[in-house]
Amino acid sequence: MRPPISEKLLHMDKIDIKSLSKEELEAALKDLGGETYRARQIFRWLYKIGVKSFDEMTDIPAGLRQKLKAKFHITHFTILDSKRSAPDGTAKYLFKLEDANTVEAVFLPEERRNTICLSSQVGCKYGCSFCASASLGFVRNLEPSEILEEVMAVRRIYPVSAITNLVFMGIGEPLDNYDNVMKAIRIFNDKDAFNIGARKMTISTCGLIPGIERLKREALQVELSVSLHSADDEVRSKLVPINKKYPLKNLIAACREYVKSTNRIITFEYTLMEGVNCSNKDAAALARLLKGLKCKVNTISCNRIRQVRNIESARMIPNPMRSRPYSGPSEKTIALFVKALKTAGVNVTHRRPKGEDIDAGCGQLRIAKL
Ligand code: SF4
Repeated sequence: MRPPISEKLLHMDKIDIKSLSKEELEAALKDLGGETYRARQIFRWLYKIGVKSFDEMTDIPAGLRQKLKAKFHITHFTILDSKRSAPDGTAKYLFKLEDANTVEAVFLPEERRNTICLSSQVGCKYGCSFCASASLGFVRNLEPSEILEEVMAVRRIYPVSAITNLVFMGIGEPLDNYDNVMKAIRIFNDKDAFNIGARKMTISTCGLIPGIERLKREALQVELSVSLHSADDEVRSKLVPINKKYPLKNLIAACREYVKSTNRIITFEYTLMEGVNCSNKDAAALARLLKGLKCKVNTISCNRIRQVRNIESARMIPNPMRSRPYSGPSEKTIALFVKALKTAGVNVTHRRPKGEDIDAGCGQLRIAKL
């Protein structure tokens, strides 16, 4: 049965202390009669050591610990399921939230960096036709504490120093949960917490122009990635329905403006789907669209969503994939597409999908457990 939709089933009267920025924590400490410098100590206990209770914060006076305990709690996710890819070490986790909803995170080990792919919402509103997360609809935003807890939970399995990069490419649209995602990012960036450089964190959007415009005014130099998938409005609207509201002309204009005001590069994600978006004509249209824009393009072959169809046949959940299950193109088609882009001067990298043997694409583990 689907879990209930609820912001907080447990600890209704208390908020997770991890949802407080350092400034908010300082103000809360002041209200409780504590010194503001204790916020740094508490950050270290929470994020560097990863304590599960206030009682473990041994350099915080007992009286203040009692007051903190009365006002706040510390969220801990339960790992419902995990899978590890034999060929590349990619590990995928399904977390049970305190209100019984579920989200996923993926740990991607590479030679010189280790990345966690994070979810930002329970479900997603945007209905991209190739995405497993879309098929179960939107439930709610994740709190900052829950976004942080995704990393804490993975870090309980891997050593602290092993995580170097974060990408918001899991379940949900991060720019649709802007404030909570940015709050979490500031804590990830804080030297008393995770100390992950802003440029090591990437927000990936399906193209929400208002969010892109907000992000360009942020002082933090977070990386931006846009899921493009086609340079043709008609095709893109079928793949990424928000394109009807924010069509390519407006989206690319917002991207150009973003690059101009931030002097940062944008990455465009382009999932290659056989017979949909990877012909020579598609490559030429993409090169024209991005001409003169400081950007790079990452192509990746489509990851087939096996479980969606299994679950749907049993539960009758509407699925945009039913009529058209997308599949990745042949190696030859990929090579020709990438070559055509390079010849046209596009900075393009083709990436091999990771964790294919464990269905590491976003939303697939969650669907399999519902
Ligand atoms: S690709 Fe992203 S924005 Fe689109 S449905 Fe999936 S999670 Fe939502």
